[in-house]
Amino acid sequence: MNKKTIKDIAVAGKKVFVRVDYNVPMDKSGNITDDTRIRATLPTLNYLLDQGAAVILASHLGRPKGAPVPEFSLAPVGKKLSDLIGKPVLFSPDCIGSDAKAMAAELQPGQLLLLENLRFHKEEEKNGESFSAELASLAEVAVNDAFGVSHRAHASVEGITRFLPAVAGFLMEKEINFVGGAVANPSHPFVAIIGGAKVSDKIGVIENLLQKVDTLIIGGGMANTFIAAQGFATGKSLVEADKLDLARSLIGQAKEKGVNLLLPSDVVIADRFAADAKYKTVSIDAISEEWMALDIGPASQKTFAQALSSAKMVVWNGPMGVFEMDAFAKGTEAVAHAVAASGAVSIVGGGDSIAALEKTGLASQISHISTGGGASLEYLEGKVLPGIAALADR
Ligand code: ADP
Ligand code: MG
Repeated sequence: MNKKTIKDIAVAGKKVFVRVDYNVPMDKSGNITDDTRIRATLPTLNYLLDQGAAVILASHLGRPKGAPVPEFSLAPVGKKLSDLIGKPVLFSPDCIGSDAKAMAAELQPGQLLLLENLRFHKEEEKNGESFSAELASLAEVAVNDAFGVSHRAHASVEGITRFLPAVAGFLMEKEINFVGGAVANPSHPFVAIIGGAKVSDKIGVIENLLQKVDTLIIGGGMANTFIAAQGFATGKSLVEADKLDLARSLIGQAKEKGVNLLLPSDVVIADRFAADAKYKTVSIDAISEEWMALDIGPASQKTFAQALSSAKMVVWNGPMGVFEMDAFAKGTEAVAHAVAASGAVSIVGGGDSIAALEKTGLASQISHISTGGGASLEYLEGKVLPGIAALADR
């Protein structure tokens, strides 16, 4: 990796500003329903504290639209973090201003201070210069461990790096190594699996990965548009009529580049979009008029699994079918098993893909689960993420 991490700089005795992603789900009474994002930062925090840094934490939560909204306070997150890390977590009722300044100034090595929600100030998302300077004035070093917001040039992500030396935390380092590594320097055979609802969500990813992969597998709802583009009837399947030319052009590009493009050869069709719909497996040239394709069929599963068996690197984004309904989850399950069994370096991204993977119980067999939805997609598109670009080079 060409970016500096917290291991490349001296942090002992320093005030260290750490941008984390504590945008956790909460129920109506403000209880945190999933603390994965908090737990995921513990290695970075424990390392900094062990080194003798005074750690100042900053995050956003929800969409308060630039003004204080009590239900989006990070105070409950501070309590949860304190339980998880087994240390007191001080809390500043604003992320800038005199209280934050005084608390940061008094913070001792080995202590933690959590700042209130950054997005209570509209300057955070606008990347305001003076707001960035105020955040920077609290600390001597900036650490980015919030990959999920690194595709945004926000004050705590990008602005602050104009005032402080900035390095990656351990979570960020993992995203750069795996996702960045797959895009910049993949091992071969490199297989990408792209699925999910719509082609239009993932055009950039498909176009970029077409330049890098040996095999591109397309499944899920978006495969229907490719099936229609080949001239087959698709009944009531989800098809993007305005993307048929694009699909044909992508098929052409794959041919030109010698990429092995694998589309479904059979699908599971249903008589309606429901968990208890009538369903059957058919070849893609036999999709009945009133029916819709909701999953890939067993022949496609077999072809996809075979391509995956020799892969050295796999990137997977998007389920193969409507995995939320058991009858249409088999394609996604089969692909999850094939990825796990391949022994390849495997990277899975996308909220629904991760949910589907977790349902199969195979998540622990995946090399890297990329956490940031939008950031992950933009990274796979080959875009420069401002929050990563702003980190110090090695
Ligand atoms: P991710 O969140 O992993 O990026 P997407 O959001 O792009 O994935 O797509 C996931 C959604 O696509 C799921 O809700 C799934 O039900 C839907 N989907 C998959 N296959 C089909 C299909 N054949 N028809 C309709 N919807 C589908
Ligand atoms: Mg999704």
